[in-house]
Amino acid sequence: MPYMVWGQNVGYKTTAVSQSVSQGNGEPHTHCAMSTEVKPDMSLRPLGLEPPPERELLCIFGTGDLGRSLGQRLLQTGYRVVYGSRRPHSCGPLPPGAQVMSHTEAAQLAAVVIVCVHREHYDFMEEVAPQLKGKVLVDVSNNSKKGLYPESNAEFLQSLIPAASVVKAFNTVSAWSLQNGPSDAHRQVFLCGDKAEAKQKVRELATRLGLSVLDRGSLSAAREVEDFPLQLFPEWRLPLCIATGLTGFFFFYLLIRDIIYSYVEQDKDISFRIMVSLANKVFPIVSLIMLSLCYLPGVMAAILQLYRGTKYRRFPDWLDHWMLCRKQLGLLALGFAFLHVLYTLLIPIRYYVRYKITEYTVLQIRENKTEVFDTTVAWYTDSYFSVGILGFALYVLLGITSLPSVSNALSWREFSFVQSKLGHLTLLLCTLHTYLYGWNRFLDPSTYKWWTPPGYMLCLVVPSVVLVLKLLMVLPCVDRCLGRIRQGWERTGPEGEGTKPLMA
Ligand code: NAP
Repeated sequence: MPYMVWGQNVGYKTTAVSQSVSQGNGEPHTHCAMSTEVKPDMSLRPLGLEPPPERELLCIFGTGDLGRSLGQRLLQTGYRVVYGSRRPHSCGPLPPGAQVMSHTEAAQLAAVVIVCVHREHYDFMEEVAPQLKGKVLVDVSNNSKKGLYPESNAEFLQSLIPAASVVKAFNTVSAWSLQNGPSDAHRQVFLCGDKAEAKQKVRELATRLGLSVLDRGSLSAAREVEDFPLQLFPEWRLPLCIATGLTGFFFFYLLIRDIIYSYVEQDKDISFRIMVSLANKVFPIVSLIMLSLCYLPGVMAAILQLYRGTKYRRFPDWLDHWMLCRKQLGLLALGFAFLHVLYTLLIPIRYYVRYKITEYTVLQIRENKTEVFDTTVAWYTDSYFSVGILGFALYVLLGITSLPSVSNALSWREFSFVQSKLGHLTLLLCTLHTYLYGWNRFLDPSTYKWWTPPGYMLCLVVPSVVLVLKLLMVLPCVDRCLGRIRQGWERTGPEGEGTKPLMA
């Protein structure tokens, strides 16, 4: 049977070892079948945690994907599990050792009931309400869209069973990850609930399953928690928009300046250059601008702190948001730099380049001329390549240290040294690489086709501004002021009383 992970079919097969055995006397039915992918001897108990007291019995409503996976994990952790189902005699294979009965019978046996049923089917809960009085009800449900209902599913469940204590939990954990052992991204359980005791019970349960718990407050916060699984790369949205916007803008800008200009003014069709030459101009431009956009908000924040004379006032939301997506901006910038490197390595094997070199050599032979070796040009090209390679090496280092597994192994000082000091050095080298690319063409009027500057000149604006501002920030007098503000000094006291001198 295929297992669904938040609407995704991950194709896990299940082999039924035995079918439900009806005993015809209201006795629970025991099942012994589960996914073939199950790792039965997985160690599930976090170190230091005792097994549940006296093999506590838990009830799960619903024998679907999540119900089965959660039940299997609970059994492996040392709990006893009883399922409440609409069809106790024909609900299909369940984890070995689990019992199954009607909702009413199952609810009577346990103090904690985990409702693994979609919200659309909660109406059956009203029939079970008398058996759920005083019990802890765990709502694990998610919705397929945001804003589908006026209230959260957990609040809705609480309104159906006011005599129970509803706790929102496990909605961010998938059936698939429960079966395969949760990875870091799937370990987090968000808890919401109005009763502290009920929340504590669910917290213990989640911790015993090896999950990490984060308390999100009262049940009114459940709506936000239910929206978490619907988010699709939220922190990548702005960086991706910036990357797409910059790529589109520079692609059309260079298309007009290089390809269309040649066609209109020189009657030359060089449209084939779109594929490699144009692409290899757009990628480094976007990469450099995005790298500088990683460092611009830091400089702006420092200027704002100097201007306000305090670090205790919140930054505007847009600046906060910008600072929070610097890692994603940097990783995208690194991706574009990689493309630039790959396209550059391709240059010697390009048909166009080989043709041009051969044509030039033949011309020299025909005219019996030898071009004189120019040491200045050799210096300039070698410096251009060398600075570019060093810049790229540091770029890669920044990318590697932003990986959680690497950054977790660094102290804060080491991490900020790499990301800030080496980051600015990377920006400096990459900017220098671009200045060297322009070399003596900045003052050449023929560079400005249709009175427009080339792309590499345009892309130098933001990094140059960032580097100049950063240079001002590290001047000893400015750095000292900023240092004091960041240690808590304020120009005006907490009550707004008189201005204090910055320098003691
Ligand atoms: P599922 O595979 O469709 O199972 C739902 C179960 O609900 C069914 O097996 C059925 O069990 C019961 N049910 C169906 N219709 C019912 C009705 N009219 N009245 C009473 N019970 C009914 O769904 P699921 O994937 O396990 O998800 C269950 C809940 O967990 C959902 O709210 C979902 O949003 C949430 N969730 C799922 C995952 C996941 O990875 N799957 C992750 C996080 C949260 P019986 O036949 O035994 O009655």
